[in-house]
Amino acid sequence: MTPTRFKKRIHESISNEALQIALDNNAQRRVQGRITAFASLPNWPARRQRAHAVRAEVIGHLDQYLAQFIRKVEQNGIIVHRAQDAAEAIKIVLDTVGVRHDVPLLFAKSKSMVSEEIELNHALEAAGHRVVETDLGEYIVQLRGEKPAHIITPAVHLRRHQVGELFHEKLGIPYTEDLSTLTDTARKILREVFLTADVGVSGVNFGVAETGTLCIVTNEGNGRMVTTLPPLHIALMGMERILPTLDDLALMLSLLPRSATGQKLSVYTQLIHSPRRAGEMDGAPERHLIILDNGRSRLQHSILQETLYCIRCGACLNACPVFRELSGHAYVGADGSIAPYPGPIGSIVSPGLLGLEQFGHLAQASSLCGACKDACPVDIDLPKLLTRVRAGNAYPNVGRGKGEDGIGLSFMSRVGLRTFGLIASSPRLFTLSQKLASIGTSLVSPFSGWFWMPSFTGWGYSKDFPRFATRTFRDRFGVQSLPTSHPTQTVRDQSGAQSIPTLQTETPPSAIAKDLIEQFTEELTAVGGNIYQVKGTELTSRLIAFLKEYHIEAAMLWDSIPDLNESALTEAGLSLERRPDPSLKAGLTSALSAIADTGTLVIPSGQGRPLGASLLAEFHIAIIRASQIVPSLEEALRNNEVRNASALALVTGPSRTADIEMTLTIGVHGPKELHVFIVGAD
Ligand code: SF4
Repeated sequence: MTPTRFKKRIHESISNEALQIALDNNAQRRVQGRITAFASLPNWPARRQRAHAVRAEVIGHLDQYLAQFIRKVEQNGIIVHRAQDAAEAIKIVLDTVGVRHDVPLLFAKSKSMVSEEIELNHALEAAGHRVVETDLGEYIVQLRGEKPAHIITPAVHLRRHQVGELFHEKLGIPYTEDLSTLTDTARKILREVFLTADVGVSGVNFGVAETGTLCIVTNEGNGRMVTTLPPLHIALMGMERILPTLDDLALMLSLLPRSATGQKLSVYTQLIHSPRRAGEMDGAPERHLIILDNGRSRLQHSILQETLYCIRCGACLNACPVFRELSGHAYVGADGSIAPYPGPIGSIVSPGLLGLEQFGHLAQASSLCGACKDACPVDIDLPKLLTRVRAGNAYPNVGRGKGEDGIGLSFMSRVGLRTFGLIASSPRLFTLSQKLASIGTSLVSPFSGWFWMPSFTGWGYSKDFPRFATRTFRDRFGVQSLPTSHPTQTVRDQSGAQSIPTLQTETPPSAIAKDLIEQFTEELTAVGGNIYQVKGTELTSRLIAFLKEYHIEAAMLWDSIPDLNESALTEAGLSLERRPDPSLKAGLTSALSAIADTGTLVIPSGQGRPLGASLLAEFHIAIIRASQIVPSLEEALRNNEVRNASALALVTGPSRTADIEMTLTIGVHGPKELHVFIVGAD
């Protein structure tokens, strides 16, 4: 039975004109963006199959990979907690902050679907603390007292005039629909939050077992702020978000941003290994990781296991013709509460984690057209899983509650499906049924039995059964295994029990064919960065001229940037600071490497290399040597310095958001400008 509240929300969504326009805008741009982004990844079908196999391997051996991951994270100095359910996760957060503080604290949060799942904000506020969402879309819905309407674009349901009215009413600025003004207003208010917060809370997109890496992907820079500035960082992670190796991470990062936002790489991909180390100037000195179960173990041992392969890209929501009419707020439970995860994947995850009685009916919100499966970068068979939820048969290996078996189906349907299940799972019965069916069909087919068919249903007047082959498929071919259709090799996993297809070509062909400098320049320029090719001897004078042109008189500076004459900068009147200072207009850094394929700078933390220099100022100026440019992310992550750094930021352009009406706006939290000087390009 479809609950009345769900039906009511469906009607409300469909009749809401502003919502329909907002949803159409989102779907069209996201779907087109995804298609365009994948066009630049010629071997993406093979990558998709490998991604599926990697996720299957991890979920099939989750205990083993979790143990490896936790061991490594703890060795790196991060404190790990396991939480069985939402209540335990919340208690861990409160205990973690409570042992040293008894006053209300300020929590700066970046986007985390796990925190939505456990309703963390509500619990923290009930305990007297203040929580501020810092992702622009999340900030908007928090100001409205709402939940996110989409797992990637929280304010997808709003038009710009609604945001203008909201900021006027709640933040006291004159009404405007100008996106730069709205974004700048949020930037100023939230910058204060970042600088004064006691605790930073983030999600985790991926945890890497071999290195203990926490990977966090954002576009605005708020994820970097909440993990870099407050003295305490708490990361929340679903226990399924593990990947075996950094190579696997590179693979997933080639798929996730393309699927989520149509980008080759998000602006900021952070890799966190440890708390701030001795001699470093920023980064949280204390980090905790809370790994949440909350029903995932049960899912892992059910026929919905494949759900756990999900990397939360949101592409299935954008592709779904039902979600495109409803938005996330229509996906409500039997008690009227909004499901934490909406859309096709949400209609499986929400009942899977939080109960069929409460959310099982959401699986009806699908046409089963298969668009979600086509869009999924890890090739999850969402229609199959949706039908399993519909059948209410999700947990064969655990005790079923009342109403969980065949929920929503009539008695006859259940008997029919059970009978079919019995036959289809027995080769002998199935073979026999094929033979009987061919006899039965020839009896009822209009060509042989039309004279009695109308007395049953009238069906034979206008339709016909397809004729059965005289010999069944099995009779003709026997039972053989089919060849694989994609170009893969296989490797043994750690237990030797399963194989994962490997890619024949890890480096995108485009990265090999083009000159690396030319490609890096093209890619970074495409995302709003600026490139200057200079000789080593002229770097300092060109930089001084640049700083004068932009009226930059003071800057944060890394120690020992190659080819740069610091004395000459000081003599030219520039004030240089070593410590991260948010009042300065520019930050000067070098980089570990630069990635041609995506236009990305790999910026590590370390002594004399504050992360704030690439984060806090309006201008980020980076100086690299041409020899530091590598073709691909895979190659960049194989550098040993990557796994040895306490934290790294992969920076792909200036800070950006499209959280209001899917319209690109630059500089919401991080630098508004990115300028890269390439030395030795001649
Ligand atoms: S199910 Fe697939 S498409 Fe949907 S959010 Fe998960 S990874 Fe993305």
